[in-house]
Amino acid sequence: MHPTLIDLGLRRAGFPSLERYMSVCGLKTEDEATESLMPYILGYALRRIQAGDTYSKIAREKGSSVRAIAAANPQFDPEALPVGAYLVVPYPFPVVPEDTPVTWQLTHYLIRGLQARYPFLGMDVIGRSEGRRPLERICLGTGGRRVYYNGSHHANEWITTLLLLRCVEQYAEATAFGEELLGMDARALSRETKLYLVPLVNPDGVDLVNGMATVEEEMDARAVAENYPDIPFPEGWKANLRGVDLNLNYPALWDRAKEVKYDLGFSTPAPRDYVGEYPLSEKESRALFDTTEALDPALVIAWHTQGQEIYWKFQDQEPEGSRLLGHQMEIASGYQLEDVPFAAGFAGYKDWFVQDFRRPGYTIEAGLGDNPLPLDQMPELVRDNLPIFLLGLSGGDPNFREESPEPAQPDLPDYEEPGLEGAGTWG
Ligand SMILES: [Zn+2]
Repeated sequence: MHPTLIDLGLRRAGFPSLERYMSVCGLKTEDEATESLMPYILGYALRRIQAGDTYSKIAREKGSSVRAIAAANPQFDPEALPVGAYLVVPYPFPVVPEDTPVTWQLTHYLIRGLQARYPFLGMDVIGRSEGRRPLERICLGTGGRRVYYNGSHHANEWITTLLLLRCVEQYAEATAFGEELLGMDARALSRETKLYLVPLVNPDGVDLVNGMATVEEEMDARAVAENYPDIPFPEGWKANLRGVDLNLNYPALWDRAKEVKYDLGFSTPAPRDYVGEYPLSEKESRALFDTTEALDPALVIAWHTQGQEIYWKFQDQEPEGSRLLGHQMEIASGYQLEDVPFAAGFAGYKDWFVQDFRRPGYTIEAGLGDNPLPLDQMPELVRDNLPIFLLGLSGGDPNFREESPEPAQPDLPDYEEPGLEGAGTWG
């Protein structure tokens, strides 16, 4: 298990070190310790029901709450608990941490932990990565409006996985408890929409950047990176394990992307910017392409970092309603709706979706700084992106009116030193 995962378990269990934990709990091997930390990583304990148990008694015992236990165990009648059966008892902290680097394994455990707390959350596997890691997909909601979200096409943008899982957790929690989320009725929203979400499109690349790749994988990647000595390794790695930039591998003017990137020197597998041998040459982009076609969603959003921008066009195509919704996202997030066609905007997931489906598709460039963005941006990322996440689900307010543009500023006269003639007359 990755050391950061063990650290997460220890922090949540309230222990400063593995040694201390093992001695207090009387554990002899690291495997035993890891095993016994699992409930803290998953965010819940399993508790066998005994005669005389009530939810409030168990909640007190584990620091949980009656409503959290009820939500996690909808199959039981709290007035008639079956003695001997196991209850899922959520711990009093969120499943999704804001302080732990993403790996495939962490993502897998967080999805399991979310499913345990919110059993209405579905999960399936849409394929496997080039390195054979399962590509897991979350599903939430029962409505007819289908939307498809994804994160971490790019390896060193792994914070988007954590961001999306935090958004899912808040949405699931509000749905479970019948609460509002940013003024929206979460339960009503989940009855009208069906969210599908692939939080980690590029698990191999993310594991490489965060030190979880196998020795062979790391050696292969290092050999690729040596041809591009200006790109820091592994933190500059965006591609998948085969050195293909997944967000340049979709059939949307792919030949143009190839021309542009070859001219820049990316004509072989590389840490970034290599378009691949042909469109959809990679298992990850292929899986996303196929499942998007099968789902036929009303809208897609792909999360990247960074720049605090929202891209919404492909070339000069403007799907109906796309600008209006994008503008609402802009106001809600404080990010800039990037209005001009992105000069190098070819062969991305959103590009292909807009081109083929002619429906709203967005690329969000979340946060600001150098990739990988530091984890201390998480609270701000969630604050800015949760509204985008919810607006995509609802489709926004169709009656929303763009404010009339600011009246043009009159030309100001050149600044003159106070005291000189004309000072203070700004017109
Ligand atoms: Zn990106």
